Amino acid sequence: MNYISTRGGEMVTSPRAILQGLASDGGLFVPSVLPKLSTNPTNPISLASLSSLSYKELAFRIISLYFDEFDEAELKDAIDKAYSTFDTADVAPTVKKGEYFCELFHGKTLAFKDVALSLLPYLLKMSIKLCGVDKDVLILTATSGDTGKAALEAFCDVEGTRVCVYYPSDGVSDIQRLQMVTQEGSNTSVIGIKGNFDEAQSGVKKMFRDSSLNDKLFDMGIILSSANSINVGRLVPQIVYYFYSYFSMLKNEDLPVGTAVNFSVPTGNFGNILAGFYAKEMGLPINKLICASNDNKVLYDFFNTKVYDINRAFVTTVSPSMDILISSNLERLLYSGNLDFEKTKSLMNSLSAQGRYTYDAALADFVGEFATETQTLDTIREHFNKTGYCIDTHTAVALYAYQNYKKQTGDETRTIILSTASPYKFAKTVVAALGQNNTLGNTTDSDSLSALSEITKTPIPEQISNISKKPILHKAVCKKEEMEKELLNTLLTMG
Ligand SMILES: *Cc1c(COP(=O)(O)O)cnc(C)c1O
Repeated sequence: MNYISTRGGEMVTSPRAILQGLASDGGLFVPSVLPKLSTNPTNPISLASLSSLSYKELAFRIISLYFDEFDEAELKDAIDKAYSTFDTADVAPTVKKGEYFCELFHGKTLAFKDVALSLLPYLLKMSIKLCGVDKDVLILTATSGDTGKAALEAFCDVEGTRVCVYYPSDGVSDIQRLQMVTQEGSNTSVIGIKGNFDEAQSGVKKMFRDSSLNDKLFDMGIILSSANSINVGRLVPQIVYYFYSYFSMLKNEDLPVGTAVNFSVPTGNFGNILAGFYAKEMGLPINKLICASNDNKVLYDFFNTKVYDINRAFVTTVSPSMDILISSNLERLLYSGNLDFEKTKSLMNSLSAQGRYTYDAALADFVGEFATETQTLDTIREHFNKTGYCIDTHTAVALYAYQNYKKQTGDETRTIILSTASPYKFAKTVVAALGQNNTLGNTTDSDSLSALSEITKTPIPEQISNISKKPILHKAVCKKEEMEKELLNTLLTMG
């Protein structure tokens, strides 16, 4: 399988695409052809054959279609190890609690990023070997809160790798920040920036393209790679749970393979929902992909007007992992709409010059919806009062989006809500949403963990139960212009 840049300047093998992260022309790598399911039910890559597999088996079948250069036994072993770190053998269980929720937060850091990131170090190590690279790989990552911790946890003390994470110093939840700044491991570094996620992401993309920095790093024995969803190594493992959740829902309802469903996806950088689009293109019977935004509703406007316009205020919300105006992975969708490099390039040029572009190809697979802050908080409370099931702020945006979509359209298609984080990651907001914070005043997330546990009668996840007692190991905060300088400093101290 080859990967081509959405801007046409490069074609590489899958290990090379994983290793490189971003294409050298600034575009994103996409599969040159998307694999398709067979309609013959006895074929191993048909819906019928895939429907009864365990999560790990399904992951192997799907991922090996995209990364066919890897040794099959090695890939199988990697998948087994990566998903054994989850607290359930199901990896991504789908539960019926009023609606269907696919719980993607059973990994080490309690957010859906773990699904792809726990596998990425293995994919990267296999890629290093296949490409004959004799350098250390430095994972450079911008985070809106969850990718950073998931990457740190996944790459911590992995030989031949180092990981450096930039986060908006005032733009993540208290638990998210503590999870990152208490990270152990001699190869990890965490840097706050005085700016928002878009600025952190642009700074990181700029470092990838900066040839003098890359030369300097090369002389130090280091090459760059990315753990952001611009890396196809992130995207492909995410396709698996769309299939797995679909099959779980069918079993629960006793429905035949082939019944169509909708997915509602809380969206920021457009990585999660793009994996759903790839699943649909492969042949998974998806009716609509509901793209759910918070008040940073650039994507809602885009799907409703075909104009993408970031000339607006960046809003800090209760769903910080979706506080994004520049959704990088949308570039992959734009490319697949007309398969025209020049067009993609001109849209992206217009985005960087004017902050806007108008798209002219069809977008019929998607529906844009959004939830305001009040709607998000009300949804958490109402759903808990109705079902006793507590969801986090991001999942609440997706649930509200679905409810609104259903009200507007009357679409009765069964719908799965992707649940992207544990409510414990956003404990303070969730406790407040449940209407029980009156006496707590200005508490933090970590102070709210036990309150949330009492209200919901669920245990505090072991992954964060003693987070406020851990020493702070990463204190650096820099201006957005100083990201490169700070990186070079930190590499010296890592040795
Ligand atoms: C990253 C994240 C999202 C957004 O996912 P994208 O792939 O960036 O669209 C939503 N919810 C949570 C909890 C996240 O961590």
